[in-house]
Order: sequence, then structure tokens, then C-alpha cells
Amino acid sequence: SVRVRFAPSPTGPLHMGGVRTALYNYLFAKKNNGTFILRVEDTDQNRFVEGAEEYIIEALKWCGITPDEGQGIGGDFGPYKQSERKAMYKPYAEELIASGHAYYAFDTSEDLDRMRKQAIQMKMPNWQYNSVTRSSMQNSLTLPEDEVQKRLQNGDPYVIRFKMPRNEDVRFEDEIRGWVVVNTNNLDDKVLYKSDGMPTYHLANIVDDHTMEISHVIRGEEWLPSAPLHVLLYEAFGWNAPKFAHCPLLLRPDGNGKLSKRDGDRLGFPVFPIDWLAQDGEKYSGYREQGYLPGAFINMLAFLGWNPGTTQEIFSLEQMVEAFSLNRVSKAGAKFDADKTKWFQQQYLRAESASSLAKMLREEVGAKLGEVCDEYVEQACHLMKERATFVEDIYTEGQYLFKNPTEFDEKTIKKKWKEEAEELMADWSKELDAIKEFKSEHIEQSFKAFLEAKEMGIGKVLPLFRLVLTGKGMGPSMFEISALLGKEECLERMNKNIP
Ligand code: GLU
Repeated sequence: SVRVRFAPSPTGPLHMGGVRTALYNYLFAKKNNGTFILRVEDTDQNRFVEGAEEYIIEALKWCGITPDEGQGIGGDFGPYKQSERKAMYKPYAEELIASGHAYYAFDTSEDLDRMRKQAIQMKMPNWQYNSVTRSSMQNSLTLPEDEVQKRLQNGDPYVIRFKMPRNEDVRFEDEIRGWVVVNTNNLDDKVLYKSDGMPTYHLANIVDDHTMEISHVIRGEEWLPSAPLHVLLYEAFGWNAPKFAHCPLLLRPDGNGKLSKRDGDRLGFPVFPIDWLAQDGEKYSGYREQGYLPGAFINMLAFLGWNPGTTQEIFSLEQMVEAFSLNRVSKAGAKFDADKTKWFQQQYLRAESASSLAKMLREEVGAKLGEVCDEYVEQACHLMKERATFVEDIYTEGQYLFKNPTEFDEKTIKKKWKEEAEELMADWSKELDAIKEFKSEHIEQSFKAFLEAKEMGIGKVLPLFRLVLTGKGMGPSMFEISALLGKEECLERMNKNIP
């Protein structure tokens, strides 16, 4: 059965790239009647950030892609946090030592520094701890057995390293990239386990994926360089490796390089900000705070690296599940597009019903709406939503629906407010007053009759009407606006608002 996992390290806020990885895992799981698991990889205690785990769980929830199993949810393969599985890993590291795939290394950080410096002096800046150098280092492959035992008993610090074979081709078939071949001469003897009792990412990741019966590892391209080591680890343990799928990088809008935190500051990179993010002096705003609807955010993200092979762009989560396959995830980096992101948001906003928009608007701007009934707010939303990107825009763009404007568009005044304007509006006001059923279509009829009687074009009169009622030079149908404001309010504004 299909079992996939999202395995973030709680080192900071969840960024777009992370959410996209989670999303593809979620879609793949649902498409294949599988299980989507959340595992927290917190073996690197130095990089641990308080609150990050809760943040990740909340962010996934906001996005609507909650795991079926894992940290914060539970399941049969727990615990789902690596620090809570700590005791499990050592026997696996020892198993690799016993089988000759790993060894104890006692080099101090000074030793390692010295080797690195020597290598630089010898113009070999890419020094690695590998098959060539390990023969000169202090490890259980070079020290006599009793010396090794003595050091271990002494409590000398050590690490357990993987014994990377020399000059072998490691190959595996990536679900997205096809065959990947890497020669082991380019790989180093990675640390698997440290004497502080913590495994490194590599060991914990493999042990967990195996014991949690993960069938597919879907993760970001930045983990591709680690995959050959992982393949070798599975072989060393004699386990079947899961299938691998490395998702394309997210690129900056101009295609120049990876999307970074810096771009994120401008583009709303994390899902949402959190207090501790401000600690390093940076201010974050997330998608949630900017007013993005989760559906729009997810829809946009799905397209960063995947496409359905049709022209359809708007997908509900269910439709995405239906359409998703790893075959249609591209190898090439996906360019983030801020305008396209806004476009998705607009589509989603427009698709919301007036009543749900009204609810969101009340939550967002609350008291500013004044004492209007729900139906009024709903109609205001209906009128303004085509002109809004975010819920809040409904209020900022349509403030005049809630209060009499105090500012009047200079350009329109200059261009349209001629001598006869005041009298014209006074006359139109009388016509408005005479309308019995103050509905949009009746107002429109009356307006047309008024234009005919005055022998004037719409372009001369309508802007004046709009200016007086709304203060603006543009906006939705004036007849609908008037109908919503109601006769009394309209007449009052017609009287008062002479720019
Ligand atoms: N803990 C790794 C991360 O933070 C997980 C990589 C993987 O999925 O293997 O992205």
C-alpha cells in the first residue's frame, strides 16, 4: 500500500517549498488510497526552534492538507518525532559496524580542521572524509581493536561514519527524473551517529522510512545529492528501498536562482508569520495574513512544478487529487510568479458566495462596517468582489457603501464637473425622488429617460452621479449602488455632496 511522509525539520516557519512537498505527498497519497504521514525530524538539536512543530501542524491544517497519521495525530508506527525515537537508532548503527558498512571515528574537530587546511595548501579545496583520507584518520579502521575499545570505554567522543565504497556507480530510478547515476568517488563518509546519542538525519531518515513502511519518498530536489547514500544504506541493511521522487526547485520569478528567504519577504513566502520569527529583526508576512484563501494558495502551489496536461487551471483539492500524478511533475525548476499567485486568489475570491464573503469581511474589518444588516453586507460583497483581490479590498474599494464619502476624485472633478453640473444633479435628484420602487432596473430606466430629456450623453452625466454618490471616478454599476444605498441615503448624498 502507498505510504508517504512529509518529514520537516522544525527549524523555522514552513515555507512555500515545504508546503508544496507536503501537498504533492498528500495528493499522491489520496490518489492512491494511501496514507499521508507527518514525521518531525528534529535530530539536529542546534537548529531546533521552539514552536516550529506546532506551526507546521497549524500551517498544514490551514492549507487543508492534514496528515492521516503522524505527529499530533497518532498511529501505529509512532512515535513520529525523531527525538522521541532516539533509543531506536543506535542498534542500527551498530549493525552497520558489525557488517563492515560503518566505523567509529575519533577525529576531533581540530583534526578535521587540520586536514582541511592541509588539503587547501595542497590545492585540493574539496577535501572530504572518504576512502582516500579515511586511511590516515583516527578511526576503527586504522586503530588497533583494543585501542578502539579503550577509547569507547573512556568515553572519548566519536562519531559513526558510513564506509563509502570506492569507485562504484550507485543507480536508482527517480519517479520524476528517471535514472540517476552517481559515482561514489564523489561522496564522502557521512556521519550516521554521534556520541551524544543522536543519529544524524541520514540514519534516522532511513531507519524511520523503513520501519514506518514508507513506499514513496517525495521530497525537494535539495535532497537529491543525499539519495545515493540513502540507496547504499538500504542495501547495507538489506532492505528494499522506497521509490524516490525529487520535486523541482522553486526558482525566483526571473528564473535566476533558487527562491530564497529574501524573496519571501516581498512575496509572502511563509504560510503565515509567527511571533518568534520577528526575533532576528525581520518582519514576516505570510500568505494567510496577506489575505490569501487557502484554496488559492494550494492551487497556485500545485502548479509550481506540476501541470494537468490540459488548459484547466482552477482545481479544488478533490479535483487536484483526481488529476495528480508524479509523471506530470517536471524536472525543470518552477518559477514563482507573484502576479499569477494574485490571479489565483482573484479567481477564488470571485467563486466565494456573497454570504461567505460577508462573513469573512465582518471578521476582517468588523466595526468599520457600521450598523448594517447581513443582507446589506452580502450585497456589498456581491457588488465589489469582481474588483477585489482580497476580502479586505471589498471594504477599501467600496467604503462608500458603508459611509458617506468625504473625498472626491480630483481627476473627475477637473474633467467633468462643469458649470451646469450642480443644477444637473439637482434635477436628477428630483427624478430619483420620484422613483417609487427604488430598484436598480427602475433607476436605470429613469436615468435613460433623464438623459433623453436633457439630450445628453451618458459620459457627461453618469460620472457626476458617481462622483456625488461615491466620490470615485470608477466602480460597479451606479444603478446597483444606488439601489443598495437606498433612496433616502442617495437623496441625502445628492444634496450634501457637492464637490
Ligand atoms: N528533514 C528533511 C527536511 O527537512 C526531510 C528530507 C526528506 O524528506 O528526506 O526537509
